[in-house]
Amino acid sequence: MTDELRRVDVALGERSYPILIGRGLLDDPRCLRDSIDAREVMVVSNETVAPLYLDRLRAAFADRRLASACLPDGEQEKQLESMLPVFDTLLVNGFSRDCQVVALGGGVIGDLAGFVAATYQRGVGFVQVPTTLLAMVDSSVGGKTGVNHPRGKNMIGAFHQPRAVIADLAVLDSLPQRELRAGMAEVIKYALLGDADFLAWLEAHLDAAMARDPATLAHIVERCCRNKAAIVAADEREAGQRALLNLGHTFGHAIEAARGYGDWLHGEAIAAGMCMAARLSARLGWINARDRDRAIALIERAGLPVHAPADMGAGRFREFMARDKKNRDGALRLVLLRALGDATVTADYDPDALTATLEAEGH
Ligand code: NAD
Ligand code: MG
Repeated sequence: MTDELRRVDVALGERSYPILIGRGLLDDPRCLRDSIDAREVMVVSNETVAPLYLDRLRAAFADRRLASACLPDGEQEKQLESMLPVFDTLLVNGFSRDCQVVALGGGVIGDLAGFVAATYQRGVGFVQVPTTLLAMVDSSVGGKTGVNHPRGKNMIGAFHQPRAVIADLAVLDSLPQRELRAGMAEVIKYALLGDADFLAWLEAHLDAAMARDPATLAHIVERCCRNKAAIVAADEREAGQRALLNLGHTFGHAIEAARGYGDWLHGEAIAAGMCMAARLSARLGWINARDRDRAIALIERAGLPVHAPADMGAGRFREFMARDKKNRDGALRLVLLRALGDATVTADYDPDALTATLEAEGH
């Protein structure tokens, strides 16, 4: 059962919702039943996660109508076609507008199930049960849902906030180490973009985190969710500061798209992207070499890549970065560091420094 229940609230007026964090939440039917209150429950999961955890939901909702759709695993499944079997299941079961869609999985399932919830009968309730570290600290919070297009990542989607996020830390026990590392990239992102105290804490506790010490992971998930909740509450639709959460992502998305989704993990790509953002910030003279190296060292200690793939090349970067959603009027907007723990979104930087940074990645 639950050792300690932590709760973070995302304050969005009538769309506010709780993030519940604790070990054993999926074994606590009351927690599930309080958070998911529909008579018709549509669980979306994948072939890796469903065999591990779907039974917990079935047990908690034995007296409700529960249907499930189990997709193949992988980022390449985050596409429009993969949504059709989910809609089929909803329709075959005659699920109404009062149903709730529950995402049981990592960010791929969360993003896709959320978009299903946003669009089925013009929008039904949605609950996130994130099962990766990345999903717990990032993708399950904030209401960005959607799928990839062959020409660009997350190009089709909608804002659709969940009604609750249930993060059972015990499910991380089965997560492969490579996925834990990828999640740690987003964790480090929060520290670099706006939480210098957390950066120092992470430097001291990284080894415990990578060894999955339960108290360390609980603190990490809560701290990241508090950071994200504050940013989302201030800027739900990314008119401004929410774009800071894209630190490392302009470079990272280019790496992912150029490699074909699923080769480099999202977290791995943004790890390299954050290192590039740190190098560019240093090249611009905004941070010093010591801080640049401090950021890169933490990413390296987490076992993450600190450079783009050697064959990427400046031309490929430019091609994919030109499609970034942050761009305005043809200007390439980037998230850069003014200090460790202080990021900014800007198109106002020396373009030659960007060129030099991209060209240096071939190393
Ligand atoms: P993922 O969903 O592919 O999960 C990673 C792998 O771990 C998969 O193979 C999955 O089956 C497996 N897995 C999941 N939980 C497990 C568990 N408990 N035990 C064992 N295996 C488990 O990847 P991810 O890193 O969770 O998410 C990446 C996606 O999230 C990307 O598509 C990215 O664009 C998206 N994302 C979205 C947002 C947002 O705001 N919506 C933010 C960040 C990332
Ligand atoms: Mg991300």
